[in-house]
Amino acid sequence: MCSRSSDCATADARHIRSLSVICPGGVRTSVDLAAMSRWRIGGLADVVVEPASLEELVKLRRWLNVQKLPHVIIGGTSNLLFSDLGLKVICVRLGARLAEYSVEGTRVSAEAGIWVPGLARIAMKAGLTGIEHTCGIPGTLGGLVCMNGGSLRNGIGDVIDKVTSVAADGSVKVRSRDECAFSYRSSVFQATDEVVASATVRLARGEVSTIRRTMLGILAQRRRKFPLKQPNCGSVFVSDPAMYDRFGPPGKIMEDLGFKGVACGGAAVAESHGNFIVNRHQAHAEDVLSLIRDMKKAARERTGEDLKVETIALDEFGQRIVI
Ligand SMILES: Cc1cc2nc3c(=O)[nH]c(=O)nc-3n(C[C@H](O)[C@H](O)[C@H](O)COP(=O)(O)OP(=O)(O)OC[C@H]3O[C@@H](n4cnc5c(N)ncnc54)[C@H](O)[C@@H]3O)c2cc1C
Repeated sequence: MCSRSSDCATADARHIRSLSVICPGGVRTSVDLAAMSRWRIGGLADVVVEPASLEELVKLRRWLNVQKLPHVIIGGTSNLLFSDLGLKVICVRLGARLAEYSVEGTRVSAEAGIWVPGLARIAMKAGLTGIEHTCGIPGTLGGLVCMNGGSLRNGIGDVIDKVTSVAADGSVKVRSRDECAFSYRSSVFQATDEVVASATVRLARGEVSTIRRTMLGILAQRRRKFPLKQPNCGSVFVSDPAMYDRFGPPGKIMEDLGFKGVACGGAAVAESHGNFIVNRHQAHAEDVLSLIRDMKKAARERTGEDLKVETIALDEFGQRIVI
């Protein structure tokens, strides 16, 4: 992420030409973030660049570092709230162009941009069990590793064998699972400047039919529980295990506080789930932020604790907004 907003120079035509040499075919300008993002919120991103290989990612990071150009890293955008003012800094997206994978024995390796539900299906078809819980998470592997995402009290970190990342200076690191500092919905990648380039998970052998049945059950349950028809970014608050034991999940806390259905502008807390905010109609980022702040304040008054916000809100300079 961008370190100081005063550093945040917009890429000019010369920069865009250089980016096109580093990532041929992977550079777009004036990209509509509302069209790209899961929440369907955001202004225009000046430049989005998508590397198609580890080599391109290394060259890109090295060049951005030398040019001192601030940038943000994104994957599937399923945990991100973009500013209505867009993004004035370069947006590096690790997505479908960086999504190769291989299966060797019980290990599955994949590049960061692979779509997580697709990866879960690859493991299932190979008769490998351990990531069924990720089959309904609409993000990339890089985002999942960074967030230590998962469901049903699991996190991808539980099965990580190693993660390859690229630091801001372009150096490549390979971290073992222990070196990734996974904890509930957190990893070392939230605290370093490293970009996850690929990861290997170590799974166990299982029956394809059993794995498929488990995944179908998980997907059916998620369809019942979550408001999947309206744009949203999943859980707004982290279901912290310590808070969970004392007060229940954040969705229940919000339901008890009467937040279900509460709206601000075009955004509203989902009627079906108190921890989801949906874009009902042309919501602005500020509508979502106001709702989150109101929810957090009410929860603090009720529980005496601060709920941790899972949603990552960015301003137009790529700086994380503290909610
Ligand atoms: C309907 C819905 C359901 C959801 N359900 C779940 C769930 O059950 N469990 C769960 O954990 N999450 C869930 N989420 C949230 C989200 O899908 C996950 O957090 C996901 O892992 C984010 O991946 P992404 O690729 O979309 O990341 P983004 O939202 O694009 O980015 C999230 C963060 O990861 C960083 N990042 C992205 N890619 C990389 C990379 N390659 N290297 C380093 N940093 C990177 C970004 O800078 C950002 O800080 C849900 C979201 C939605 C919309």
